[in-house]
Amino acid sequence: MTPEPGPRAAIKKLHSAGPLKDLMAEYFHELGEASRNGGRKIAWCTSVGPAELLRAMGFLVYFPENHGALLGTSRVAANVIPAANAIGYAPSICSYLTSDVGAYLRKTTPLARAFGLESVPRPDVLVYNTNQCRDVQDWFAFYQREFGVPMIGIDTPRGVGELTAGHVHGVVEQHKALVPVLERVSGTRFDIDRLREVVACSYRLTRLWKDVLRAAAHRPAPISFFDGTIHMGPAVVLRGDPRAEAYYDILLGELRERIQNNIGAVDHERLRFYWDGMPVWGKLREHAELFAGHGAAVVASTYCNSWIFEALDGADPFEGMSRACMELFIVRSESYKERYLEGMARDYAVDAFVYHDAQTCPNNSNNRYGMPARLASRTGVPYIVMNGDLNDLRMYSEEQARTQIEALVEQLSERP
Ligand code: SF4
Repeated sequence: MTPEPGPRAAIKKLHSAGPLKDLMAEYFHELGEASRNGGRKIAWCTSVGPAELLRAMGFLVYFPENHGALLGTSRVAANVIPAANAIGYAPSICSYLTSDVGAYLRKTTPLARAFGLESVPRPDVLVYNTNQCRDVQDWFAFYQREFGVPMIGIDTPRGVGELTAGHVHGVVEQHKALVPVLERVSGTRFDIDRLREVVACSYRLTRLWKDVLRAAAHRPAPISFFDGTIHMGPAVVLRGDPRAEAYYDILLGELRERIQNNIGAVDHERLRFYWDGMPVWGKLREHAELFAGHGAAVVASTYCNSWIFEALDGADPFEGMSRACMELFIVRSESYKERYLEGMARDYAVDAFVYHDAQTCPNNSNNRYGMPARLASRTGVPYIVMNGDLNDLRMYSEEQARTQIEALVEQLSERP
C-alpha cells in the first residue's frame, strides 16, 4: 500500500514559545551589555563544560555551540563556512566550528538581528571540555589567538563503559585545577557554598527538562523532537540560573494540559519515531512538517536527552559535575549506547529510528559502526540513515531525505 500523500502538516506551536523568547532575549542582552561596558566577566564554555563552576564564580556564560546552532537555523552558515575553509579549517571538520569562525571572520552574527548585539560577546576566558570531541579545543584555540585571553579546559576520557572511581577522581582534580585561573580572571574568591547552590539549581533544572522530554512518552506526544531543539535553549545556556527553572515550570504546565486534553504536537499521530544524531538546523521546520505530514511524531532523541544530568544530585558539587560530564551519552562506549537506544525505543514505543549521519560530526553520528543493523535485528524496529549535516547544507539532499522518509512510512504502513 502506498502511504497517503502527506496532508498539509498541522504542527501546534507551544504557547510557552513567548516566555522562551523573552528569557533568551534577557540572556543575550545581559551578555551584550557586559561585553559593551565590561561590567561582568564573560566566560565562553563548551556545551557540557563546567558552566556551574563559571556561574558560581560570577561569570556570565556564553556558548559558541549555541551560536553555531543559530548560524544553522538562520541559514547564515552556508555563506560564512567558506571563510573558515579559506584560512585552513577543512570542510570535513565540525561545521559549528567552521560556521562560527567564518561568521567571526565575516563580522556577522544572527545575534544582531535577533537581539540587537553588535557582535558575539567578547570573552575574558575560554573554558572547554573535550568530552564531546577535540574540535571544541581547536575552536577555542582560534579565539585564544584572536583575543589573547586564557584558555583552560578538561580532558575527559571517552568511550567510557562502567564509570570508575578512577575516572571520577581524575576529572574532579581537573575541575579543581581550573579554580585559581578563574579566581584571577574574575577577581572573585571561590566559594564552595555558592557552587553547591548553583549545582543544586542546575539539578532541579535538569529534572524539569527530563520531565518535559518524558511527557512525549504519552500518546499522542504533546511535544516533538523539533519543539525540543528550540525549547532546550535555557537548559543549555542557563544551567544553574533560577530563571531557567521558572521557564520549565511554565512549559511543563502547558504539556500537562495538552496530555489532559489529549492534544498531540502532531495532528492525528499514527507513527512514533526516534531521532538519533544532530538536528539539521537549517531544515528544522521542513523536517517537522515532513514528518507531521505523515502523522509521524518524532517523540524522542539522543540530542535533547543529552542535557539531562542526573549526577548533579550529590553532596559534592565537584563530583557531581565530573560525573555529569562523563555519564553523557556521547562519552560512552558503543555497547552502552546500544543499550540506551534500546531502552528509549521501548520507553517511547518507537516505530522506527531515524539516524542522522552528520558528515562533519562523527561524534554524534551513531550509524557508522553497525549499530542500526544490530539494534534492528534485536528489537525488530526498522531504521533509515539520513545523510546530512548539522550546518553545512551542501552535504544534505532534501530529495533524498524525503524519499527515504516516505519509503519508511510505506514500510510501516504495510505492517500487519
Ligand atoms: S560534538 Fe560534533 S557538533 Fe559538537 S562541537 Fe564536536 S564535532 Fe561539533
